[in-house]
Amino acid sequence: MNLILLGAPGAGKGTQGALLAERLGIPKLATGDVLREAVRAGTELGLMARKFLDAGELVPDEVILGIVREALTAPATERGVIFDGVVRTEPQAEGLNTILRGMGRTLDAVILIEVDEETLVRRISGRRSCAECGAVYNVYFEPPRAEGVCDVCGGALVTRTDDAEATVRRRLEVYRASTAPLIDYYQASAVPLIRVDGNRPVDEVQNDLLGRLTN
Ligand code: AMP
Repeated sequence: MNLILLGAPGAGKGTQGALLAERLGIPKLATGDVLREAVRAGTELGLMARKFLDAGELVPDEVILGIVREALTAPATERGVIFDGVVRTEPQAEGLNTILRGMGRTLDAVILIEVDEETLVRRISGRRSCAECGAVYNVYFEPPRAEGVCDVCGGALVTRTDDAEATVRRRLEVYRASTAPLIDYYQASAVPLIRVDGNRPVDEVQNDLLGRLTN
């Protein structure tokens, strides 16, 4: 099952995508994670992408489609992929269609997670992740037991550099201008668009999603 998760930064794509991937037994592809890892590792991709990430701007479509193309060569993706944060522009949507079609695969559904703007800002600015194991917390909604320390492994909790307030504001603007138009794009396509209210607790959103996917 190939699924796209659409939604503003902070809507919960990463959280819901990870749970869905586990339940459905298919991998998740998050271009944001691939890019952050490349920046950390100092690869050519990372050096190129860094300025876009730090500014809250989108990485060029061709770069993103290159990551997608390469990821889809992994045998584990044959049964499907959860695309988390891909696609973000109309050319990416067209490009993904072409790639999937070329491999004899289809897009089964697009999931739109809708969240109020005020909640988005608190979710992003409160987000902390473990530098060691990647566990994610939120100082407002899901604080760790001890401030700044991971409950799971005791690692140090850090803020993503692109979660700084000015960058967050820019990422929301970019979402509105470049990504939100994809809602109409998919609505007009043959692929089902599933809208879920993402203002609810994680489990509620997940159960709603699973129910809607299997019906
Ligand atoms: P995310 O972790 O999905 O919020 O992505 C973090 C950042 O990575 C974004 O603000 C963009 O700079 C870049 N990025 C991730 N996915 C894409 C994409 N599909 N298209 C363009 N830029 C992306």
